[in-house]
Amino acid sequence: MRKEYTNETTNQTDPQPIKGERGGPILGAKNPEIDRQNPDILVPPDTDHGTMPNLKFPYAQSHMRVEYGGWSREVTVREMPAAKTIAGVNMHLEPGGVRELHWHKEAEWSYMIKGKARITAISPSGREFVDDVEAGDLWYFPSGVPHSIKGLSEGAEFVLAFDDGGFSENSTFSITDWFAHTPKDILAANFGVSEEEFDGIPDGEVYMYQGEVPGPIAQGLPEDANEFVEESFSFKLKDVKPVETSGGKAWIADSTNFPISKTIAAALVEVEPGGIRELHWHPNEDEWQYYLEGQGRMTVFASGGKARTYDYRAGDVGYVPFAMGHYVQNTGDTPLVFLEMFRSDHFADVSLNQWMSQTPPELLKEHLPLSDEFIKNALHADKRPNVKYN
Ligand code: MN
Ligand code: MN
Repeated sequence: MRKEYTNETTNQTDPQPIKGERGGPILGAKNPEIDRQNPDILVPPDTDHGTMPNLKFPYAQSHMRVEYGGWSREVTVREMPAAKTIAGVNMHLEPGGVRELHWHKEAEWSYMIKGKARITAISPSGREFVDDVEAGDLWYFPSGVPHSIKGLSEGAEFVLAFDDGGFSENSTFSITDWFAHTPKDILAANFGVSEEEFDGIPDGEVYMYQGEVPGPIAQGLPEDANEFVEESFSFKLKDVKPVETSGGKAWIADSTNFPISKTIAAALVEVEPGGIRELHWHPNEDEWQYYLEGQGRMTVFASGGKARTYDYRAGDVGYVPFAMGHYVQNTGDTPLVFLEMFRSDHFADVSLNQWMSQTPPELLKEHLPLSDEFIKNALHADKRPNVKYN
């Protein structure tokens, strides 16, 4: 005879895997803090089924690299094996803190979360680029382009996306590392000076250091310096006209409005409490997500009867393998804000609603027992092309 479980057995503070007549309490080891953050993993909806890859990894569980000048941590294919197309890095720079001059094989896209930073890079024709970026701004450094980032007076925090899940922030090409591993006589010959010039150089990679807060850009550069740069490395995402619906907004940046960003397309999505980023999929690429504010849930439909629901909150990384159907629902009482990113030159999605509204009703009704009223009103209520968020 099955025991009766009451609210004392399973409640908000000590949730248990019990669904009516099924399941039972966890008697042994458990971690209620993690259970509380993942209600749909502990007690999945009955529509979940089958084996799915892990599609969530919190930055709070990734190794923190603590340095003079700031910190960094990464979520790559090593932390989340499904995430093959994009690797993410979360970085903080103190006022005057510097991520040193470096380059890498992968392209780097960034969203500034808080504060301000000064970025430098070299354009394809060898011109210097310097810009100050603030919360809401993006930057993009193409593969191989050297760059640096320095925190301004209030410091800076940002999320970086690299167009290869196997990228690691710990194996970039740094100027100090190269100097340390080049014979001194070669350095002397290359620059036409004596070897003593290099007596004080670091004996290995510095990566990050605490420097001084710089003055205004104009002090260090001719005013027209950036005019020689063919395509800007930075972009003001909040200047984009958002896609607006009853349930939220989305600001989209890809190579059509941010031309240099040829390998990363992104949408900053804000879903109001009670709102949902509608059922859709992406016809071009996997989706890498970074949750900035609030909390939500996403069910990923993987075909063949497979589906799983994951819970996310600010600081988590989510992932949707190519073509899999999904939605993102705000489960909190504050706005849910997240980034959708794709290793692509353009943003694209297919809305289930849009697709159905463009399909002959008789054909639809042969698949699903839908009412004429639903087909006429719900499906045709919004004919906005391509994207619909509500
Ligand atoms: Mn970099
Ligand atoms: Mn999506």
